[in-house]
Amino acid sequence: MMRRLPIYFLVDVSESMVGKNLYSLEEGIGAIVSTLRKDPYALETAFLSVIAFAGKAKTVVPLTELVAFYPPELPAGGGTALGAALSHLMDEIDRTVVVTTPNRKGDWRPIVFLLTDGHPTDDPSKALDRWNRSYRNRVNMVAVSIGGGADHTLLKRLTDEVIVFNDSAHDAFARFVKWVSMSIQSQSRSVSAGQDGKVSLAKAEPGLLESVENAEGLTPFAGVDDRYAVFVGKCSKKALPYVVKYERHMGRIETSDPVLSKLLQTRRYALDAVAPVKNSYFELSDSGDSGQSVSSGDLIGQPNCPHCGARFAMAVCQCGKINCVDGGGDHTCPWCGQVTTYTISESGEHFDIGRGRG
Ligand SMILES: [Zn+2]
Ligand SMILES: [Zn+2]
Repeated sequence: MMRRLPIYFLVDVSESMVGKNLYSLEEGIGAIVSTLRKDPYALETAFLSVIAFAGKAKTVVPLTELVAFYPPELPAGGGTALGAALSHLMDEIDRTVVVTTPNRKGDWRPIVFLLTDGHPTDDPSKALDRWNRSYRNRVNMVAVSIGGGADHTLLKRLTDEVIVFNDSAHDAFARFVKWVSMSIQSQSRSVSAGQDGKVSLAKAEPGLLESVENAEGLTPFAGVDDRYAVFVGKCSKKALPYVVKYERHMGRIETSDPVLSKLLQTRRYALDAVAPVKNSYFELSDSGDSGQSVSSGDLIGQPNCPHCGARFAMAVCQCGKINCVDGGGDHTCPWCGQVTTYTISESGEHFDIGRGRG
């Protein structure tokens, strides 16, 4: 039997990834596959799988040979349950990777590319123990912190290979994809020569990929990712969900607009993106709310609804959920069915809005 080189992409598809990053990763997986198909060594050995995780984890593509691999559409969800993701990955490895026995040569040592941009919203310690006890020494894991937003101390407890990917660098995703492809190609060459060892990653480009040598100081588990304030709304007309993402601006935004400048002094989060998602969003989300909220007085910018174009996508019903409205007047909430009369005030009183977990 042919010995396979199993490669798993364990991809964070939480709210903070929704939008540009998810599209870039989808394209990136497609580009990796087409590069590998042109490489005779990779074509012969590499098998790919894609596992997506947010509040829950899901195998999007099971371990598949390159010629039959079709790049998937990545789902999205709420939460960053790294513990659940690792457990799912380990179960998947148990189920699919052929182990070497005295009578049989099993698969080559699998490679896992963990791509994440946030702090875990679950407690991953049990999964970490299981990983370190039974998987770490027989699986090559490369943990990539997208934009440097992941918990590097925690990732260091999983693997020695923790790499920060600067996603705002020039042509960042295209160059990152090239690096991943080259790393897989080099590993498939090694295994074809019978060397089944530590993954030989392609040379990292400074400014794009930086290896994390040590991460001092444990970050305590907080249950919410504070780089972003993310909200899940539902379109009143189409009843489809969307994600509104505000980013902590940390004073980085420069403006000559006096009104905006004033807002930046008093409000912590600026509108970053609004993106439509599908109803499958709820399948990958952890149950329950984060229990944390953000005051509307802390947010800058009001997006349009990405499904119907309504002017205000951050209207809040009495039930606490977010929906879109086109203006003042009576609106039926697509979450609870209650009718609420909205008044649109530009200055407005502030109210708390329940946030997603990251
Ligand atoms: Zn709408
Ligand atoms: Zn409601």
